[in-house]
Amino acid sequence: MDKFSRRALLGAAAATAAVSAVGTPALAAAPQSGKQAPGFYRYMVGSIEITVVNDGVSRMPITEGFVENASKDDVNAALQAAFLEKDFYAGPYNPVVINNGAKLALVDTGTGEQAFKASKGLNGRLPLSLAAAGIDPAAVDAVIISHYHGDHINGLLKADGSLAFPNAEILVPATEHNFWMDDGEMSRATKPRVVFGFKNTRRVFSAEVLKRVRTYDWNKEVIGGVTAIGTPGHTPGHTSHVVSSGAKSIYVQADVTHAPFLFARHPEWHFMLDVEPVAAEATRRKVYDMLVAERMLVQGFHYPFPSVGHVEKSGTGYREVLVNWTPLI
Ligand SMILES: [Zn+2]
Repeated sequence: MDKFSRRALLGAAAATAAVSAVGTPALAAAPQSGKQAPGFYRYMVGSIEITVVNDGVSRMPITEGFVENASKDDVNAALQAAFLEKDFYAGPYNPVVINNGAKLALVDTGTGEQAFKASKGLNGRLPLSLAAAGIDPAAVDAVIISHYHGDHINGLLKADGSLAFPNAEILVPATEHNFWMDDGEMSRATKPRVVFGFKNTRRVFSAEVLKRVRTYDWNKEVIGGVTAIGTPGHTPGHTSHVVSSGAKSIYVQADVTHAPFLFARHPEWHFMLDVEPVAAEATRRKVYDMLVAERMLVQGFHYPFPSVGHVEKSGTGYREVLVNWTPLI
């Protein structure tokens, strides 16, 4: 700020103070809200209605090993290049609800009601976002799961362990289910995060949940207009979904990349949560080259809300261009 404008501002502040001192009549300051707006965003894919329902964000300290093949300094440089705080990873969580006119389906569940208390409202916000969007959990016909990491499955249960979506079938990728429910795979797991993943899966997939589970296969329709696409690597059965109606389609990518400001910019980075990092990188490049070539919209679970946009080539990686807000759908 130059001297002139700073002096002008200081003068204005002094004038305001003088007016207050002589006692302006009762115009009380409006109380600050201190609360964020509910996070839901709606759009159409042909005749299919999509509602993005935000579940909050994570806040994870960045340690050496956060990216297996890049240093903490490299990760911090990428965060600062995106104008973000260094040393912490704020990864957004954005499940979507798909209404194809016949079924109301939630894709991935977020971190769960229990996480809301534990994080002091930073995440576990899906029930609030659903309520704000006017979606009753009891009206959800199907929960479609992309993969078995906690931020995608924990919300199947309420804090008391009961079913969060009591009338829903739980549709899971067969390859993913077979991996995480296999005792042999569990006994061979060595990475601590994978070992934890097995424990968490066994906790969430309780007898009540398992009663409602139906597996689905890649390259088949899961519900009308929603096709499962195998995108393995992040987990062995990691699955994306293409939603199509008429001439329109959108790629619901789940965790092909985590937050794009790190992992679309750096497709070569092996995130510590990738179970099979080399396969994850190959999948990421293949999917993103396709998204660029086809100019196809992508809905990214870990993209910043409302987490839908296009991607373009940028340097040695990719850059997301998020959609513009629109008041009418
Ligand atoms: Zn995830």
